[in-house]
Amino acid sequence: MIVDIAVPRPVEGSFHYDVPAELVDKVKVGMVIEAPFGKSSTIGFVVGLPQSSSLDPSRIRSISSVLTPEPLFDQTMLEFLTWVSQYYCHPLGEVISAAIPKQSWETAKKSPARKKRELPLEMLAGSAPENLTDAQKEAVAKILDPQDNRPVLLHGVTGSGKTEVYIRCLESMMAEGKGAIVLVPEISLTPLLLARFSVRFPGIVAVWHSHLTPRERREEWEKVRSGQARIVIGARSAVFAPINNLGCIVVDEEHETSFKQEEDLRYHARDMAIVRANRSGAKVILGSATPSVESYHNTTTGKFAYARLATRVQDRPMPKIAIIDLKDEEQKISEVPWLSQTLDIALRKTLADGKQSILYLNRLGFSHMLYCDDCGHTWRCNNCDIGLTYYRQPRVLRCHYCNMRRPVPDTCPECKGHSIETFGFGTEQVEKTIQERFPTARIARMDRSVVKTKRDLEELIERISRRDVDIVIGTQMIAKGHDFPGITLVGILTADANLNIPDFRAHERTFQMLTQVSGRAGRATDPGEVIIQSLQPNHPIIQTILNQTTETFFQTELESRRSHRFPPFSRLALVRFQHKNAARVSSFAQSCVRHLLNEFTRQGIQCSILGPSEAPLARLRNYYRWHCLVKSGGVAELRKAIAVVNAYTQSQKSSVQVTYDIDPMNAM
Ligand code: ADP
Ligand code: ZN
Repeated sequence: MIVDIAVPRPVEGSFHYDVPAELVDKVKVGMVIEAPFGKSSTIGFVVGLPQSSSLDPSRIRSISSVLTPEPLFDQTMLEFLTWVSQYYCHPLGEVISAAIPKQSWETAKKSPARKKRELPLEMLAGSAPENLTDAQKEAVAKILDPQDNRPVLLHGVTGSGKTEVYIRCLESMMAEGKGAIVLVPEISLTPLLLARFSVRFPGIVAVWHSHLTPRERREEWEKVRSGQARIVIGARSAVFAPINNLGCIVVDEEHETSFKQEEDLRYHARDMAIVRANRSGAKVILGSATPSVESYHNTTTGKFAYARLATRVQDRPMPKIAIIDLKDEEQKISEVPWLSQTLDIALRKTLADGKQSILYLNRLGFSHMLYCDDCGHTWRCNNCDIGLTYYRQPRVLRCHYCNMRRPVPDTCPECKGHSIETFGFGTEQVEKTIQERFPTARIARMDRSVVKTKRDLEELIERISRRDVDIVIGTQMIAKGHDFPGITLVGILTADANLNIPDFRAHERTFQMLTQVSGRAGRATDPGEVIIQSLQPNHPIIQTILNQTTETFFQTELESRRSHRFPPFSRLALVRFQHKNAARVSSFAQSCVRHLLNEFTRQGIQCSILGPSEAPLARLRNYYRWHCLVKSGGVAELRKAIAVVNAYTQSQKSSVQVTYDIDPMNAM
């Protein structure tokens, strides 16, 4: 008996093995086996049972054991994973091992069950609304339309009732005996959503994310595989969950970049959700208040259906938005360059009214940069070539990429001066200053350095919900879908910080961030107010936010993408070159690109190239980094280009690492 085995290693293709007589009855497609590989051994996945092998029988080795009593994936899943492997030019064995948790085949180590903190689910979940609004009804009808299997983009402002639409659609799926997957950007940020689903679908919800213990991982996986759980809620890897009879995949906040995995198998969970659903005849709901430019574009070409929830439920008003020019002298408060008079007054009033406020900024740390006031010297990371972040407690400089820490110097290494100052500001500094200006206010910070675990987050959310906090100061984390009825004021400290990042999506990101954060204001009956501080108040993106004209944003942005031939008007692949030796990586990148351009002409491949260039992050964990961006009208041409790079890399036998990122979301 011959089996075809995919191994979780960076090798192309699969391998034939023989099955010893005593294991013949035990081997099926989808099982995990152990087999000799080179001079050692490996685990492998059975991906085929060929009748025979054309290999020389003396060269076929035998598998040594079977590790699972049952298959871990069926033929449909295998075909999907094979598709993923081809699309992302990534070995099948590695795709399978990314999709299936190793806890499902590794023997159980004895780990004690973690004490689960019982959340007041019912309280968090709130009650189910009796009637849907007309817009919600229309959206549900579109999604469940048996005549139309296209993905539906559910474009609804925050608080417009999207989650309720997902729940109704899933109720209908459950009634038909189908299963569903709900993908959320970061599960630890969504305890409220989890609570709502657990209360509305008691006993059949499994949770899937990277913070589970090995034991929880095995348990949740088994719940799903056995069919006990029919709904999986999870982060991106839940797109591979073994749900039987899949009826629907929901992608909540579909625009979020965290759906893209940024290492190893660089897949986009939203895109794979569409592919998987399409192959199994399931529906897809993509929900967002700020859809990605790509998804919005798909609705205009007819590839996606479109449902709009244009207003908040029960006619709760949208927040009032004001833009403040931070350069305006009249707005200045001495010593606090990041706080305008207008925002200061609004905070005071909100506090006096017993309401809650949010202050948003997109930086970590006390003050993000240290500089010498005499000569302008700044401190950068030796490994990563990015600016170091200054932390006050404990007093260190830290690199956000490689986590390197350094003590804070007293003298400037360049001019030997002593005028070392901080530049910019962070949540810590904002907290300190705000506390000084509002001594009676109860202040909480919500950022990665304070909220480290799921439990920290749950506790903080509970405190805010109980109104034990007056002012929340936070980063990206507060932009996500929390629903706090007491928040009436949102202050955005610097709206323009993201506008100039080196990425063609910088405008889209800024637009999404500003809209999402603004959406936190006035979620309940009290009307909300948003104050956006900016150094460039006339920037078109800031103006679209002011006028709340989403459609204008999409039109302008699509025009600019079209004229520069960026997605959705082209497909991209990022080819990245890395090596510890700077000269070697740059010369390899350049010769590889020269070779590519020649081959494009010779073979008539319809691609163009940007670069090669040094990556914005020119050095990361001691590796020098170069990259080039391959652009094309279609993915088939991109694949030809990658085949050329592959062949070239192999022929050169160079030690430069070459990796690909198909549909890159981030070219740092
Ligand atoms: P979104 O997911 O778009 O932010 P939600 O589904 O969370 O919106 O709805 C916002 C709030 O309105 C929630 O508290 C929800 O319970 C409530 N809600 C949703 N739909 C209705 C409805 N049809 N009638 C009354 N309240 C509703
Ligand atoms: Zn570093």
